[in-house]
Amino acid sequence: MARAVVAFVFLIVVGGLAAWLADQPGQLGLDWRGYRIEMPIGLGVGAAVILMAATAILYQVWRWVRQGPVELAHARARRRRDRGQLALTRGMVAVAAGDRAAALRFSREAERYLTETPLTMLLAAQAAQLSGDDKAARRYFSAMLKRPELEFLGLRGLVGQANRTGDHAGALTLARRAYELNPQAPWVLSALFDLEARAGNWREAERVVTRAVSARTLSENEGRRRQAIAALHIARAHHDAKENAAARKTVLKAHALDPRLLPATLFAVELLGATGKHRRALHLLEEVWKRTPHPHLAAAHRALFTSDEASAYLPRLEQLVGESPEDDTARLALAAAALEAGQTERAAKIIGTLADAPEAAAPIVRLKAEIEERAHGPAAARPWLERIAKSPEPAWTCNVCGHAHDAWVAHCSHCATFDSLRWGTQEAVVDLEAPGPSAHLPPVDDVVAQAESPGITVLHASSTSEDGIDAEPPLRAAS
Ligand SMILES: [Zn+2]
Repeated sequence: MARAVVAFVFLIVVGGLAAWLADQPGQLGLDWRGYRIEMPIGLGVGAAVILMAATAILYQVWRWVRQGPVELAHARARRRRDRGQLALTRGMVAVAAGDRAAALRFSREAERYLTETPLTMLLAAQAAQLSGDDKAARRYFSAMLKRPELEFLGLRGLVGQANRTGDHAGALTLARRAYELNPQAPWVLSALFDLEARAGNWREAERVVTRAVSARTLSENEGRRRQAIAALHIARAHHDAKENAAARKTVLKAHALDPRLLPATLFAVELLGATGKHRRALHLLEEVWKRTPHPHLAAAHRALFTSDEASAYLPRLEQLVGESPEDDTARLALAAAALEAGQTERAAKIIGTLADAPEAAAPIVRLKAEIEERAHGPAAARPWLERIAKSPEPAWTCNVCGHAHDAWVAHCSHCATFDSLRWGTQEAVVDLEAPGPSAHLPPVDDVVAQAESPGITVLHASSTSEDGIDAEPPLRAAS
């Protein structure tokens, strides 16, 4: 409506102006090369207006001709960018979905339509990795290292690649570089701990765990477990370097960090026993035995009383396990000690029908064979001896690949998984490490200080009151 009014007013004004010009008296004249043109003034103004309009139209046409190709090119670039972005998005989705073929196709498409952007590089690297083209993936990841905004991502890709190809030394160098860039990233903390631990750099590994716990990328329980394992290895290194006090202090720290880490307990008992701290060693052993009776604890107990004759040792073992224990491990230990002390009949009674079960483990069958031989001669022992080879042998067994180890190690020697060894047979692995409440554990320094205090270095003392042992953390019964 408003527009119509404006047009109407405009027409009236133009019409009025034209009528006014037509009414003006006078002529316009032009002399040029002997020609003379004369016209009324109204016509002259009209001609001038038409000339100006024609000039304006011509100028616009010239502009279109000149600008056209540029605008076209812009539109084409816009279209390419849009297609590239779409390919990039689809490629990322394909990577996330693990669709190799689509990831590769969209990656190539994105590269064709987009110049080398950070995201196309990342997609290309991931697509190459997904399709198993390690060489191409490494090339892309390496190229990413040269761009500050992509360096961290490139390092992550390269660490993964190096790990997969077994180049752990290379992976460690790269992971340390990533840690310098961002020491809070969960993957860096996890990968770096793994690599430092695998390389035997337990002090560095311990530092990384501490950082991971404070960055909350690792639970406090898991953090204590890893710190305990690191401390155990540091203690072993001290021991190898004949730094006995440091070894003892560090292994006690390992035990306090995680009392469920049996190798730490055993090493602590061994070191305390070797330096004359028998009472402390015995107490530590008894505490852990209460929660989880274990044949290695029984062996460590015997080693603490190595100078005792078999008959003198038997009552000491009874103090630990009771006179008629129900637990299988305890029965086995007590029966073996009774047999050693020449009490064959008692040994047979303790072991009872334990060896009769078809799934009875080799140590039980072995003891049964010895008892039978001692009681009834070699013929009676033969069927048991024949059974030994077929019976499952408990060992430190990997709960990932099932590989059995003679001794506990932090990494499975077969599949290299960290902290995967549990005691038992391949059929039944006993989980000594049932999750316990780390919050109930006292500060590590207190426990180490108590263990190191001179008050408890009492050899075979009869009193238990003044050694501070009662302040030890209450250990839970095995679940
Ligand atoms: Zn394994």
